[in-house]
Amino acid sequence: MAASVSKRDYYEVLGVDKDADEGAIKKAFRQQALKYHPDRNPDDAEAEAKFKEAAEAYEVLSDAEKRGRYDRYGHAGVEGASFGGGGFESIFESFSDLFGGGFESFFGGGRRRSAGPRGGANLRVELALDFLEAARGVKKSLVYKRPERCVECSGSGVEPGKSAVTCDTCRGHGQVVQRTGFFQVQTACPTCRGAGQVVEDPCAACRGEGRQLREREVEVDVPAGVDDGMRIRVAGQGEPGEPGAADGDLHVLIRVRPHEFFHRRDTHVILEVPISYSQAALGAEIDVPTVDGKATLKVKRGTQSGEVYTLRGKGIKSPTGGRRGDQLVQVSVEVPRKLNKQTEDLLRQLAELEERNVTPKRKSFFDKIKSYFEG
Ligand SMILES: [Zn+2]
Ligand SMILES: [Zn+2]
Repeated sequence: MAASVSKRDYYEVLGVDKDADEGAIKKAFRQQALKYHPDRNPDDAEAEAKFKEAAEAYEVLSDAEKRGRYDRYGHAGVEGASFGGGGFESIFESFSDLFGGGFESFFGGGRRRSAGPRGGANLRVELALDFLEAARGVKKSLVYKRPERCVECSGSGVEPGKSAVTCDTCRGHGQVVQRTGFFQVQTACPTCRGAGQVVEDPCAACRGEGRQLREREVEVDVPAGVDDGMRIRVAGQGEPGEPGAADGDLHVLIRVRPHEFFHRRDTHVILEVPISYSQAALGAEIDVPTVDGKATLKVKRGTQSGEVYTLRGKGIKSPTGGRRGDQLVQVSVEVPRKLNKQTEDLLRQLAELEERNVTPKRKSFFDKIKSYFEG
């Protein structure tokens, strides 16, 4: 870890003050990333290093928890946060939300321009899970549609039995020469869009597209602990690439339906449990539900309404392999809405014992209060 000694201060890297807010940090990083992006500085090792440095600084300062640790302990507090060997593509994947489509279109062309067959696009589908399915993990079969090579025309777009004919406009060259003033410009043929051939009898099944949307089913192994908004990548199940190129991936966006009584905060489960006045006062052992079934909660004598008990390790597993969370049980003391005769009598006795004023007022008690006020 000797390398960290020479590391520059993250605030200095981004050129922001120590108290810069989220917006200022984001803006500063965006500027640096645009300036040092490798597509703009090809074969420039220094720009590449600056770009990585900025990305690392941003990764830490944009995360409140990591930033807090960095502020307190410096680089040592966020050891391992660096992108390390990850390439630029992976940096961009991590920040794609920040840059949105704009960044992609700004730099995307540079990366895609290379010749050769195109890889398939990634597809995105949503998968709704129940709270407990997400907490425990589940295997789900997911049905979605993806474009696949048309089975009728084998992807050619031509009606079976017919064939494509040579394009008249470009005579099969795919390119045409246009004259503008003194210049001759060679462009892709507008009739056949560069293919050199035109389809006069398009395939009826795919309307000449060569592709059809087909229903597909994949089994998704959802790990225990996934949370709403997380994404699972299923490699190779996106749009098929052109022959010789890789298929895209399927990104499964997890949606978790709320539970009627469990709530979640990170890997912790929060549960509110009503207990009676007597249980709170005398103590009790009660059964409470957890994500893996029943557990016993010991309510201490003299528990107050709103008090929180922690059932350690009874929360949710971390889908990335961290420590399992706790279940936090908040007890609330319930007041009965209806009383039977016996309970009412007991409560009145209790009130008298506690010298509390209750309705209807009792003469003796009322007198005591009166004498008190009169001193
Ligand atoms: Zn043509
Ligand atoms: Zn077809």
